[in-house]
Amino acid sequence: MGDAYRPFIRYDNPMRENYTLKRLFFKESLTAGESVSLPKDQIHYLATVLRMCEGDEVRVFNGRNGEWLGKLTKLSKRQAEIALRKQLRKPMAMPNVTLAFAPVKRHRTAFIFEKATELGVARFEPILTARTQFPKLNLDKARAQIIEAAEQTERLDIPDLFKPEKLLDWLGTQSGRHIIFADEAGEGTPAIEALSKAPAPATLLIGPEGGFTEEERDALRGHKDVIRVSLGPRILRADTAALSLLSLWQAVQGDWGVHL
Ligand code: SAH
Repeated sequence: MGDAYRPFIRYDNPMRENYTLKRLFFKESLTAGESVSLPKDQIHYLATVLRMCEGDEVRVFNGRNGEWLGKLTKLSKRQAEIALRKQLRKPMAMPNVTLAFAPVKRHRTAFIFEKATELGVARFEPILTARTQFPKLNLDKARAQIIEAAEQTERLDIPDLFKPEKLLDWLGTQSGRHIIFADEAGEGTPAIEALSKAPAPATLLIGPEGGFTEEERDALRGHKDVIRVSLGPRILRADTAALSLLSLWQAVQGDWGVHL
């Protein structure tokens, strides 16, 4: 949806009509009157896990064409077909905020993917720093975690997931976005104050459990688009730091609608 993002846009009441219907992500395009055939894992999910039946209604979204009401016209162990009936919601602009973070332990990284998706992040950019202890990220698994979180959180888009990149290489390609660097070494501007001056598009940068090295910190401090922020006097774990900073950004610059 590009860089343009209007703050305080209208958003649909999440408790609107049809909202109790199961939501499925389906990556192909969605058009009125057409039928879509679901892949194997979703057939299993509908038929065996949810025990749905032909004739049941579901909601479908693909991250581009809004949300659609569909009816299961075929459902067996091998086949599932959904007839698209009408569009329930149109696509809408989302806050343009990226989370750049060093992968941590598997379950904590999964937590970051799930919770940041719920909090409305637009993009994940995994960063490899000198002290990153878990550089091997399973991108397929991560994508599945992100899709699952998006399905249940009523958002209409799926956050993008990029391949991990080395911090200094990544830094060299950044321009035009404010990089909000959570610096545990102190001396950063208090987060709320810094965020009020850093509108979208913005990137939130969180380090690994071992923190940033002096060399990395120097490179970050020397970059013209980097704004150093403090998240208070306690050292937070990377997942806590990421989700706290993202929540603050959403409140100050994003779609939580707080006017300071
Ligand atoms: N081992 C490091 C802490 C790393 S915490 C140390 O003791 O110095 C992991 C990441 O969370 C940090 O790199 C930083 O990006 C973020 N973080 C944690 N606490 C923070 C704070 N109080 N202010 C700003 N960033 C913080």
